[in-house]
Amino acid sequence: MSKQLKAEVDNAVRALAENRGATLEAVALQPALMTLECVIAEARDDVRAGTSLDVLAAIVAAFLEEAADALEEHPHAGTEPNRSAAARAALGLEPGTQGKPLRGTRGEPGRIGTVARWLAYDSASLFKKRQDGRSPFDVLLEDVAEQLVRREVAHQVGERRAMQLARRLPLESAMKIDWLARFECYYRLWSPLSGMRNDINAAVAHHQSGDADELDYFSRKALYYYSWFLWELHAFQHAHGGLWILPDPAAEQTIADATWMLRKPLALTELDDSILRLAIDGWPELAHFVQATYRDAALRRIISTWTDWLASCACSASEDPADGCLVHECLLWTDSFADTLDAQWDQLADWYAVDRPSSAVDTHLEHAE
Ligand SMILES: [Zn+2]
Repeated sequence: MSKQLKAEVDNAVRALAENRGATLEAVALQPALMTLECVIAEARDDVRAGTSLDVLAAIVAAFLEEAADALEEHPHAGTEPNRSAAARAALGLEPGTQGKPLRGTRGEPGRIGTVARWLAYDSASLFKKRQDGRSPFDVLLEDVAEQLVRREVAHQVGERRAMQLARRLPLESAMKIDWLARFECYYRLWSPLSGMRNDINAAVAHHQSGDADELDYFSRKALYYYSWFLWELHAFQHAHGGLWILPDPAAEQTIADATWMLRKPLALTELDDSILRLAIDGWPELAHFVQATYRDAALRRIISTWTDWLASCACSASEDPADGCLVHECLLWTDSFADTLDAQWDQLADWYAVDRPSSAVDTHLEHAE
């Protein structure tokens, strides 16, 4: 997300610098800057101003100036070199440079001389490419863009946090949140993940002892649980917008990261994930699903990729998993998900005289005996 954002902001800042700087008219023509969330939020805060293009453009210009000023500890010290003053001149925000073209023409001086002076370069070397292919002028503009992107990202993170805080009641009134219902939802993802974790561990152990049949058996079972997990995750995103609300905000982040990170080391594509969700929809029973992994052409291809992936683990059973083993990377995130969720449940369990939802089946059986 932020790589694309950086590229767009880079281009917009460069376009302003190459022409007559960050004038209101020029800024208004840069959608990448005008639609930054931090800019729109700032405009919204100023109720008197409304949200005309001029207001947004003025906010962008002010943010660009602040981005330039962030390049030096004393942006207005007046001593050379000063990257802040150079950046302001590059964007036509330094006194005397406003509205002027970058490159001078006869009768109209440009801004290059001012930029070069503040960087303590001569004008000629300002655009000379260095070894990394960037000139001092390029680097200056990219630094300004970087500051602006940081502001935008910080704003987005802050907004998300504020949104979550607004939705969460303080822990003192935790009883008012239906935590039990929430956790029942969460544990719907926990169950298939726990099955997948067990079967992957079994598959890897059998692979290490050279038992191809058992590897095959547990591989198909693990894929079944993974597909079930994908299905539940999809349902969770639909029902709750994928929003994790837990007593501890750090745990919310860990859980949200884990559901994403545990899928990254897998050798499956987004389309494969979609096929697997459809498969679990059509064959929700383990036995039917496993049969389908033999009969269905798409599933045959996926199970082959999946088993090869499991067999790529060359870790020793007696030692710690090797760095870079994708299978164990997946297991690590799966553990992280399960452990974090369990710890959060235990933290709340004081309020409820109820076992973890995951152990409800066992408890029920014990009582029945
Ligand atoms: Zn491994």
